[in-house]
Amino acid sequence: MAVELITIPCRADNYAWLLSDSASGRAALVDVPDAAPVLEVIEATGWVLDHVWLTHHHGDHIEGVAEVVAATGAQVWGAAADAHRLPPLDVALTEGAAPDFGAQKVQVIDVPGHTVGHIAYYLPGAGLAFTGDSLMSWGCGRLFEGTPAQMFASLGKLAALPPETVICSGHEYTRANGRFALSLEPDHPALRKRMAEVEATLAEGHPTLPVELATELATNPFLRSADPALARALGLAEGADPLAVFTAARSAKDRF
Ligand code: ZN
Ligand code: FE
Repeated sequence: MAVELITIPCRADNYAWLLSDSASGRAALVDVPDAAPVLEVIEATGWVLDHVWLTHHHGDHIEGVAEVVAATGAQVWGAAADAHRLPPLDVALTEGAAPDFGAQKVQVIDVPGHTVGHIAYYLPGAGLAFTGDSLMSWGCGRLFEGTPAQMFASLGKLAALPPETVICSGHEYTRANGRFALSLEPDHPALRKRMAEVEATLAEGHPTLPVELATELATNPFLRSADPALARALGLAEGADPLAVFTAARSAKDRF
C-alpha cells in the first residue's frame, strides 16, 4: 500500500506535506503555510487534492488554506477542539478518529503542548506520522499554550509508534535543535554523527526532513527523558523523574 510523499518548503522554514495514495489516486496536504508553492507542486503532480489536514491553528500552518480550498475544492480536516480558531472545517476530528484516506486508515492522535488543540495524523499502513509542531526534527515545539506535562505525554504517544515510522514535522529547525542537543552532550557519538549528516544534507540544499522515529529516539533530548546521561547533563540526579528531566530540557532550550 504505497503512499507517495512530497516535502514542500514554504515561507522561511516551514514545510507542507503532500501525499498520494497510489491505490486510490487520492491526495492530501498536511498544513498550508502558503498557497503558492503548494499549488505549484500540486499542479506539477497532476494529483487531485481531496483533503487538507491541519495540525494546529498557528498562522504559519493555515494561512494558505482558503486559497488552496478555493483552487482545489479540497475538504478541510482539523481538531474539533480548535474548530473555533481554525479555518472552516469539513471534518472535525477527535482522538481515536480513524477516517479513511483512499486505501489508508488515518489515526488521529491528540498532541497538546505547543497549542492545546494540536493533533497528529498517523498512517499505520504507510508508516507515516505528521506531527506539526509537537514532535519536531531533533526537537519539540515551544510550549505556547500547554504545560510540560501535556507535551511530555504527547511525545510519549508518538514515541510509542513503531520506530521505523517516518516523522513529518512542520519546520526546518533541525540544525538549531541539534546545536542545543550537542550543547548538553557534546561528546555523544549519535548526536555528533547526526549533526554531520544534517550539515551535509543542508550543504546540498536538501531538507533534513522527514526523519525516522528511531533516529529521534536515539538523539532527540525531548524523547530521552529517561536517559540518565541526559539527566546528568541537565544537572539533575541520575534516575530523576522523566517529566522533571523533560521540563528542565524544555526550559533550557527556551533559554538557549
Ligand atoms: Zn506552531
Ligand atoms: Fe509552526
